[in-house]
Amino acid sequence: MEDCIFCKIARGEIPGSKVLETDKIVAFNDIHPVAPVHVLIVPKEHISTFMDLQENKMDILGEMYRAAQKIAREKGIAEKGFRVTVNVNPDGGQLIFHLHMHVFGGRKLTDAMG
Ligand code: 5GP
Ligand code: ZN
Repeated sequence: MEDCIFCKIARGEIPGSKVLETDKIVAFNDIHPVAPVHVLIVPKEHISTFMDLQENKMDILGEMYRAAQKIAREKGIAEKGFRVTVNVNPDGGQLIFHLHMHVFGGRKLTDAMG
């Protein structure tokens, strides 16, 4: 999608600190981290929200979770623990309408929102 910020990051049009990339997903550091580790994982394909995932696109979730495991290991938070979150639509706290997974860690997460 032309004007989508996460599409632009995925295409490499905006310099971001990419953490991991496969042919289907890209992961990069959140611009406003709320924890010492705060990485976003997005599909390269523009999918607006979790609810827009069609049956035939569900595989992308597995790829995103797999990336979350790799990132957690690489960042050294796998053992201590971390959180994986997908915000959905306004009441779910979604601000960017390109499907993304947050990986938070590196501190004790106490509240429900990370
Ligand atoms: P949401 O609230 O939609 O689940 O999360 C959107 C996240 O994207 C927020 O944590 C926000 O800090 C992050 N974000 C927004 N714009 C940018 C950007 O241009 N670059 C990066 N790296 N992160 C962004
Ligand atoms: Zn997009």
